[in-house]
Amino acid sequence: EPGLYLVATPIGTARDITLRALDVLNAADLLAAEDTRVMRHLMDIHGIPLRGRRVVSYHDHNAPRTGPKLMEALAEGASVAYASDAGTPLIADPGYRLAREAAQAGARVHVVPGPSAALAALSLSGLPTDRFLFAGFPPATASARATWLRHWAQTDATLILFESPRRVNQTLKELCEIDPNRVTVVARELTKKFEEVIRGTAQELARDPRISSLKGEVVLLLDRPSAARVEPRDVEHALRARMGAMSV
Ligand code: SAM
Repeated sequence: EPGLYLVATPIGTARDITLRALDVLNAADLLAAEDTRVMRHLMDIHGIPLRGRRVVSYHDHNAPRTGPKLMEALAEGASVAYASDAGTPLIADPGYRLAREAAQAGARVHVVPGPSAALAALSLSGLPTDRFLFAGFPPATASARATWLRHWAQTDATLILFESPRRVNQTLKELCEIDPNRVTVVARELTKKFEEVIRGTAQELARDPRISSLKGEVVLLLDRPSAARVEPRDVEHALRARMGAMSV
């Protein structure tokens, strides 16, 4: 079927690709990728032949040039499969403008769901999953990051951040300034050989020697602010204590 196919790819383990993703990569008229070598490698691992098809590079820097070419192919009724380097395209990855333009031009946009670092980390974090906010990468400069964290840390939801392993320590220190007791989870190298999940308060994690030498790909998760975590039982307990004190 014609249209744009947004194909999720593994975030570590190559076998975490879906059967449908393989079908789509096999059948698409045109292949587009954030990095064409990564796409060709993935197809190679799973034995999908190129059969003379082109793999077009599409990323943030060349989008103004290659976007129109992909749109042209869609207008001609082609099926175009797009994948980013890892995980779900568009999520802290290129593809959003392409998907929007395709939809606006009346092309069919299909999703081929699969791995997502944010959701994988949330699933194994042990933090509440009923409401969460994915805030992407914090700004790189220290002052902008502190302001950014202060803002998002107030959100009444589990907070999911992507972070460079070099900056996790600094981010945890900044978080200690805001709320040292915030339950925090560092999820590293998910589905890979050195997968590791470190849980604790922001203060505990900031002092953890494993954090200062962190390597690989990292997702940082924060529990919702403690004020929003009050259980009805706690309220009752607090009220009884107050009433007890008043009657004295
Ligand atoms: N679109 C991707 C997805 O849906 O998973 C995310 C792309 S973003 C450019 C890359 C960031 O995702 C990394 O810096 C890291 O924060 C996170 N990430 C990707 N793979 C990961 C993994 N295997 N373990 C932990 N974090 C990962």
